Amino acid sequence: MNDVHHDRLHDFESAIFYCEKNGLNVTKPREEVLKAILGSKKPLGAYDILEKLAEPLNKPKPPTVYRAIDFWQSHGFIHRIESLNAYIGCDTDHHHEGSQFIICDKCGNVEEVHLCSVPAELQKKSEESGLKISHWVLELHGTCKTCQ
Ligand SMILES: [Zn+2]
Ligand SMILES: [Zn+2]
Repeated sequence: MNDVHHDRLHDFESAIFYCEKNGLNVTKPREEVLKAILGSKKPLGAYDILEKLAEPLNKPKPPTVYRAIDFWQSHGFIHRIESLNAYIGCDTDHHHEGSQFIICDKCGNVEEVHLCSVPAELQKKSEESGLKISHWVLELHGTCKTCQ
């Protein structure tokens, strides 16, 4: 598994373990999709993932790859960064409701932030409008320390 970045190896293994424990099938496309995403330091778009999988999966059909992406996303092992239309591996316990990201627009570095609760003002607004929150996403764009 040397194509997964070393500090992501644990995430890969725990995802596989999770599937085994829950009777979920780790098909070849699922395995390769997760490897591609965890092996990348930057978020990957669906097209980048398709390209990376051209060799190991012998030019897979896009729906096969999209389904594998959906699979990992629905189980919380990867996140979709809405504003970039790209995917990144979850860097912590994959069972959290909210995802927040700090995104550098210069180098493309993305850091996952873990707020356990919705910021008070947003909470207040959602209560006022009667929304029952299922999940929430916050993406902060800017220039990172290194790029400033
Ligand atoms: Zn996460
Ligand atoms: Zn940067």
